[in-house]
Amino acid sequence: MRHSFSPKLYASEATHGIIDSAVQIFRAMGISKGEVVERLYRHVRALRIFDGTSEIHKLIIGRSLSADAGK
Ligand SMILES: Cc1cc2nc3c(=O)[nH]c(=O)nc-3n(C[C@H](O)[C@H](O)[C@H](O)COP(=O)(O)OP(=O)(O)OC[C@H]3O[C@@H](n4cnc5c(N)ncnc54)[C@H](O)[C@@H]3O)c2cc1C
Repeated sequence: MRHSFSPKLYASEATHGIIDSAVQIFRAMGISKGEVVERLYRHVRALRIFDGTSEIHKLIIGRSLSADAGK
């Protein structure tokens, strides 16, 4: 099966960029325990780990593209 795109990888990396910007905008409130942005940051960070880390998703795509290139 070909894997040239991973919706999970795309969504978790995109969400990470968004929440990282939110932390920057909210400054200390973005990393203070009990604040909404801080809670979201912790939740969003986990998206890049479970159900296959981003590194593993990239590895799968890379191997799939290499296999295709060898055909
Ligand atoms: C909030 C949360 C919820 C979870 N829920 C579940 C669940 O419901 N069910 C379940 O089964 N598991 C669950 N997990 C576990 C999760 O799926 C694993 O932790 C994740 O797949 C990583 O596996 P690992 O811990 O064995 O890390 P490892 O495989 O030991 O990897 C450690 C680090 O090394 C990197 N790495 C490993 N190999 C390579 C490589 N070849 N190239 C580059 N980098 C590499 C990884 O990207 C990672 O950053 C959950 C984890 C979290 C954080």
